[in-house]
Amino acid sequence: MARDYKIAVIEGDGIGPEIVDSALRVLSATARIYHLTIKAVKYTAGGAAIDQFGVPLPDKTLEGAKASDAVLLGAVGGPKWDDVAPELRPERALLGLRSALGLYSNLRPAVMYPELSEASPLKNTKPIDIMIVRELTGGIYFGERGSYDSDEDLSDGTPRGKVTFDTESYSEGEISRIVRQAFSIARSRKGHLTLVDKANVLATSREWRRIASEINADYPDVKLDCLYIDNAAMQLIARPYSFDTIVTSNMFGDILSDEAGQITGSIGMLPSASLGKPGTPGMYEPVHGSAPDIAGTGKANPIATILSSAMMLRLSLGEDKAAASIEKAVSQVISEGYRTTDIMIGKDYVKICNTDQMTDAVISKLK
Ligand code: NAD
Repeated sequence: MARDYKIAVIEGDGIGPEIVDSALRVLSATARIYHLTIKAVKYTAGGAAIDQFGVPLPDKTLEGAKASDAVLLGAVGGPKWDDVAPELRPERALLGLRSALGLYSNLRPAVMYPELSEASPLKNTKPIDIMIVRELTGGIYFGERGSYDSDEDLSDGTPRGKVTFDTESYSEGEISRIVRQAFSIARSRKGHLTLVDKANVLATSREWRRIASEINADYPDVKLDCLYIDNAAMQLIARPYSFDTIVTSNMFGDILSDEAGQITGSIGMLPSASLGKPGTPGMYEPVHGSAPDIAGTGKANPIATILSSAMMLRLSLGEDKAAASIEKAVSQVISEGYRTTDIMIGKDYVKICNTDQMTDAVISKLK
């Protein structure tokens, strides 16, 4: 099997170039160990593209992304572009890439390293390792919306006036493609999938349950359970260690993935992946933004982007061993006390690092 890969690299704005440089250095060291050829081609998007080309997502970037095995992205945006027209905002680049690449699922792992548990708002909890699979292109964020005026009063006599609505709708195809993906991810983890929904109220949720139970027949080794969103939000705090893989709709996933990320303690450690149909390029990026407040200071924690590149190796390039090597190296540097300032806990034994030093530490642990 060919082990030559081509990735599109978008540094973006703020700390984007610094953290992407870190991930590329780690990828290149990993590629040497595992005899891979990874050709990284840089493209421009976000604020940098607005400055250079007048648009946040130049055609060349889009074409380059489509022609690659995967896309690695830093972060876009910053105060410099706060006043540009809405259709030209740097974040438009992300929406454009997601839609052009058909990225319908967003994967956000929430892993709590035992050494960083002090940073978590939950104290003394058992290790947390959750993968949230969020539907990304359907549901209420993309459903029919509008408003109309009504002369009818409510049943208690309150005048209605202007009525505004958003609509949650999902097709069978949209549900089954992401549920299948979640089953296969759960299978590669601990074999436990939780569907989060609101099936006691919503018709769409009942459809998610029906489809998930049917697909479960193709994954008999995966245990499926279902939780209402309100209960899931509570259980994530009460017993986060009991979750393995969670699959849910766009809006529920939006909220739940932020909650899960927060309980792990630090935004500088959280990677993400957005995936489309098998065989199409996925996009990998840290959960955090471009952190303009620390850009150029060397304070950026590169681990979220380094872990995003590990997800890329596993999910888009099929290089599981190389991915695991990066993840183990990160665990090791954390357990040996290497810390960027955002994760400086237990100050007496830590080795304080800037972005480059943390990157070097990870590279030195790769096997
Ligand atoms: P942010 O995530 O950039 O920063 C929030 C806080 O976390 C800041 O104090 C920052 O210094 C810190 N932080 C973030 N990443 C860090 C890292 N790797 N290491 C150490 N500290 C880190 O969120 P924000 O300040 O709300 O947004 C800044 C810009 O980023 C805005 O223009 C926003 O629109 C954009 N943004 C982009 C993305 C993306 O590209 N996917 C996501 C979120 C925000």
